[in-house]
Amino acid sequence: MNVISNVGAGALVDPFGRAVRYLRVSVTDRCDLRCVYCMSEDMTFLPKKDLLTLEELDRVCSAFVEQGVRKLRITGGEPLVRRDVISLFENLGRHLKTGALEELTLTTNGTRLTDFAERLKAAGVRRVNISLDSHDAERFKAITRWGDYGKVMDGIRAAKAAGLKVKINTVAMRGVNDDEFADMVAWCGAEGFDLVFIETMPMGDVGGDRTAQYLPLSMVRANLAQRFTLEPIPDTTGGPARYTRCVETGGRVGFITPMTHNFCESCNRVRLTCTGTLYMCLGQEDAADLRTPMRASESNEQLNAAITAAIARKPKGHDFFIDRRHKAPAVKRTMSVTGG
Ligand code: SAM
Ligand code: SF4
Repeated sequence: MNVISNVGAGALVDPFGRAVRYLRVSVTDRCDLRCVYCMSEDMTFLPKKDLLTLEELDRVCSAFVEQGVRKLRITGGEPLVRRDVISLFENLGRHLKTGALEELTLTTNGTRLTDFAERLKAAGVRRVNISLDSHDAERFKAITRWGDYGKVMDGIRAAKAAGLKVKINTVAMRGVNDDEFADMVAWCGAEGFDLVFIETMPMGDVGGDRTAQYLPLSMVRANLAQRFTLEPIPDTTGGPARYTRCVETGGRVGFITPMTHNFCESCNRVRLTCTGTLYMCLGQEDAADLRTPMRASESNEQLNAAITAAIARKPKGHDFFIDRRHKAPAVKRTMSVTGG
């Protein structure tokens, strides 16, 4: 095993010397929305019996924390539609109290934040990523196939009122929401929210052709530069976004560019699905089953060994293409399976 251990004791280190400090966990593949770039309208979801229980999710997350993971992001599907998921946050919060974990956070579509914002804050969550692609209610409905814009805005307000730091994720789609980006920057600046634009990634068959909608963020940035001054700043979130400071609003505006600018060289993360499959790279098929070793014994010995063996297979990176020759998705699973 070609593992370089120059990054401190207790760390999971991949073959390229990158310490894995960040685990994203998809707690369900289900969602109450059907965003056009993420899911097809008639999705077949996993039978509930295939899912890890909340106790098992806690166990595997805790095993990662013991092996040096410092940041946990709960995602999905829509994490807040999973029954009693709040208890997972409340239980994982114990690792924040001991200092073993630096951050517990989630990515959500915001539809259920009015119910959960306060309890998330009480559990130790400090920041939430909320996806919002449009401020036009009709357009929002079209993008999400049936989403209620007002409900999501109520959720965003509830998060802010609860004292959670909010980051808005906006997927950039040509001819769909590209006339709203400047207003989005202004709104986020005024609200004190970070804003991150994301390029559409070719993940899963969503029943449409992505070529027409794909919009390189270099173009988004160039257009924004006509109205705003965006000064590059060093990234402090440990994520793949490249950040700028908008001089006019004072807010941070980030760009996630998996298509035009590969961010793999600094990748510090792995992703766990709700069935206990670990993907070492968002854009590659190789995966490790952690459910079997976890269920094989009450001790974590086999689980820990499986985690170490998986990290030793983490690939150098991915290559996504969206062009006329590459119409098929780069990977078969959708983002909602791997956990965005
Ligand atoms: N349901 C939650 C939400 O929407 O925030 C969490 C899961 S969702 C899969 C996580 C993020 O992935 C969202 O910001 C969504 O916009 C993004 N996403 C989903 N499919 C994508 C794709 N094909 N390309 C780029 N971003 C995608
Ligand atoms: Fe659901 Fe999030 Fe996918 Fe939209 S992006 S369908 S909200 S999982």
